Amino acid sequence: MGPEGGGPEYSRGPGGFVDFVRLAGLAGCRPRGAAMNDAGKRPVEGVEAAELRRSLPCRKCRYDLRGLAIGGVCPECGLAVVDSVRAAIDPMAGRLPRLTNPRSVGNALLWLIMCLDAAAIVLTGRALGLRLDALGRPHLVDMMPRGVVLGAVLVAVAALPAVVLLAPPREAEGIGVVRRNLWRLGGGLLALAAGAATAWALASELAAFAEIEESLLLITLALGIAATMLPLRGILQTIGERSRQYRTARSERQRAIDMVAAAVGMIAGETVRLAVRGGDLGILATLGGTIAWISALMALIGFGYLTVNAVWIRRALRRPPPTLHELVTRANTDEG
Ligand SMILES: [Zn+2]
Repeated sequence: MGPEGGGPEYSRGPGGFVDFVRLAGLAGCRPRGAAMNDAGKRPVEGVEAAELRRSLPCRKCRYDLRGLAIGGVCPECGLAVVDSVRAAIDPMAGRLPRLTNPRSVGNALLWLIMCLDAAAIVLTGRALGLRLDALGRPHLVDMMPRGVVLGAVLVAVAALPAVVLLAPPREAEGIGVVRRNLWRLGGGLLALAAGAATAWALASELAAFAEIEESLLLITLALGIAATMLPLRGILQTIGERSRQYRTARSERQRAIDMVAAAVGMIAGETVRLAVRGGDLGILATLGGTIAWISALMALIGFGYLTVNAVWIRRALRRPPPTLHELVTRANTDEG
């Protein structure tokens, strides 16, 4: 890649990185009306006087702050302009290497997660239907006949193009880890497809397996989660750096390792249930089933969060946040 590949944006021209550091300090220690008090005594005067050359909605009232000084306040609601600037810019964005195809990477990531969501819904839906059927409530399993399991095979295969789109170009530097994870992710998706196909075939052909179909489905999903989440972890970290929302989120950020923990719970619970099947250790079977289903519920909630995370990352890739430099510098298109 050329030397411009990962260059820090802020180091260019006036109002660059140094000013950003000052602004960050200013914004950090004085979130409200920072510039009103002791302007002149502080070295940040230059930044405060800089005008916003681009449209920037006020964080509180959406008034367009274009043309106002960074040290000023919103004329509509009085919120310090620096507050809105701080919320809009992403100090990390300019320092990360540029993706060559951010839009398709964002789309691919969301598509991949949505395919995994669909596989999880199909497999747990059918398994829950079987469980309710055993309790004398057959209407869910009527809605989810055995054939829907093939839907999980379909979506796992449909996710494979996303793995290709996520791959960085061959000449990019430092991509060995990403490529390795993508190979493992592709393998994980194929394993999920093969597992779902096997569970479907066994339950269809062999009556002996039909009664343990619920366990087969949950274990298939759990193995699929483990095989895809471990490689996805590194990929999400690398790409997710570009989303300030994802980077700074705490409880809303789904950790891959928690998904793997849920998968382990599903496998352990169902293994216990299978092991004591037909014996007189009914209490153990109930305990195993309970653990498996609580873990499955955690995994489903985790998939919901993962989807939200993918939406954030996709949004940041499609519309990268402006740098401070871009906000205070007249864009070429504005001149004339
Ligand atoms: Zn305002």
